Amino acid sequence: MIDLHCHSTYSDGSLTPEQLVAEAVKIGLTALALTDHDTTAGVPRFLAAAAGTTVRAVPGVELSVDCSSGVMHMLGYWMDLENPELLRQMEWIRDGRAMRNRAMLEKLNALGFAMAWEEVAAFAGEDVVGRPHFAQVMLQKGYAKDKNEAFDKWLGDGKPGYADRPRLTAEVAVALIRQAGGVAVLAHPFTLRVGKEAMLALFVELAGVGLGGVECYYSEHSADLIQDYLAMAQKANLVPTGGSDYHGEVSPGIKLGVGFGGLNVPDEALAALEARRG
Ligand SMILES: [Zn+2]
Ligand SMILES: [Zn+2]
Repeated sequence: MIDLHCHSTYSDGSLTPEQLVAEAVKIGLTALALTDHDTTAGVPRFLAAAAGTTVRAVPGVELSVDCSSGVMHMLGYWMDLENPELLRQMEWIRDGRAMRNRAMLEKLNALGFAMAWEEVAAFAGEDVVGRPHFAQVMLQKGYAKDKNEAFDKWLGDGKPGYADRPRLTAEVAVALIRQAGGVAVLAHPFTLRVGKEAMLALFVELAGVGLGGVECYYSEHSADLIQDYLAMAQKANLVPTGGSDYHGEVSPGIKLGVGFGGLNVPDEALAALEARRG
């Protein structure tokens, strides 16, 4: 059993890299990839913790990517951790997120919503602060009756409380991972919120610019959806991979390796993926 997608305390997970390795050993994983959001800072600790254990630790990252329809995340594996361009771009993404959050707070304050950074950050806890946490403060203070209203009126793209942030395009993210010696994998395709035809077209297009795989097996993919994605991955000549997206206590119900219980990422995905390294 392998798991190629999880988060540590270096992004929004609740376990340290050492605790993740210990959990992987306990449940009998043969390989685990650490894929924190926009940072590889936890990878050295992760690799060190796994040395001499039964778990093969795979260095990874999950990059935030620009997507008009939904959320696009690009996983990268086996990059050179010292690669200057990769480090520079990840820092740019992280700085951009912090600047965006400050800009949104200023806009909301100017619109008459009294809220402080500490209140927003409190809802995020260990998580990276994002728009859902602004929405939670607005609900708590009675500025919106539910999350949908908060987004529809104030926080959604282009709304008065919204501020944009810099993101990589999918093509740039793939190239960035490959030039650092890694292989790129499109994460949890269902969050793109596009139909089957557009999804297959995207798989083919990204395969053409160097994408190596697609995360077909995922905690929140139904059995039918997994079959759809496996068929599309085959048509696009992409390696079908997968992972739980385990965050520890932050994502209740999702367990390392098995997701909600039925996740089963085939072991052979690892070697097939490694063969696609840039
Ligand atoms: Zn993701
Ligand atoms: Zn993730």
